[in-house]
Amino acid sequence: MTSQTDSASRAPARILDGKAASAALLENLRAEVSAGIGAGRARPGLATVIVGEDPASQIYVRNKRRACEKVGLANHHHELPEAAGQARLLALLGELNTDPAVHGILVQLPLPRGADYDEHAVLAAIAPEKDADGFHPLNQGALLQGRPAPVPCTPRGVMHLLAGAGIELAGKHAVVVGRSNIVGKPVALLLLREHATVTICHSRTRNLAEVVGSADVLVAAVGAPRLVKGAWVKPGAVVVDVGVNRLTDGSLCGDVEFDAAAARASWITPVPGGVGPMTIAMLLRNTVDLAWQL
Ligand code: NDP
Repeated sequence: MTSQTDSASRAPARILDGKAASAALLENLRAEVSAGIGAGRARPGLATVIVGEDPASQIYVRNKRRACEKVGLANHHHELPEAAGQARLLALLGELNTDPAVHGILVQLPLPRGADYDEHAVLAAIAPEKDADGFHPLNQGALLQGRPAPVPCTPRGVMHLLAGAGIELAGKHAVVVGRSNIVGKPVALLLLREHATVTICHSRTRNLAEVVGSADVLVAAVGAPRLVKGAWVKPGAVVVDVGVNRLTDGSLCGDVEFDAAAARASWITPVPGGVGPMTIAMLLRNTVDLAWQL
């Protein structure tokens, strides 16, 4: 642990501004899509599939559809009632897999708990070459082996933010808190690909404070408000907070104590306005890549 003077003598962290980076990415994509179509390429199409009425999922999908419109992607939207069931969802995915106007498919997660949905089977039913979220087991296997494949959007967004700020990763100790298939594990693999030495923490990790305190680059992806204390952060570390937690007063906060961490870190993502906006931009990037096989 370091003393108070460490933080007192440091300039506050610079902000990894996901809102600005996402706006720039979307603008570049808009220009790229327009130029591609002008040159005779097919308009990239993203199918969005939502099952049930979960309000948060409805908002996420609406934002993704709006972004498609902004960038000039075709959006093929499908809503199924919660009671539709696994067989009907799989039948829809079968149709989208063979539809030539659809280049990317996104099934909004989580699926409703009530019916007989099997999330793994649903993700595996998406054609790997249309897997805009990068969640298909074949694509996750490719990521593990370091072969080209669609990369999950949030981890890709994290890496884009780090690269945009010119943060060197080779030889650094990166600590990822969280080991989900959609954030923790893929972000750890991407950090490893950039030659960081990676430690993955989870709910059974002992001495989390100590492990976090040894991180040059910290990625928190837990879903627990302010679990990571600012005092744990190594002076000069880079802090990426993927967590999005809604508090009882309706406000949002991350998994990291922002103010205290910002007093010690060299770079930090805010919540909101950090990793969140990158996820949608990367979904569209993945869709264009799939459409035009970049
Ligand atoms: P999951 O619930 O799937 O995974 C959470 C992980 O955190 C698990 O690996 C769990 O460990 C670990 N964990 C839980 N408690 C602790 C603890 N006390 N100490 C250390 N590790 C712990 O979450 P996701 O990966 O899906 O999402 C993580 C967060 O990121 C959420 O807040 C989510 O809303 C946000 N998110 C944000 C996105 C964005 O666009 N900004 C996109 C996706 C997610 P174990 O495996 O042992 O249970």
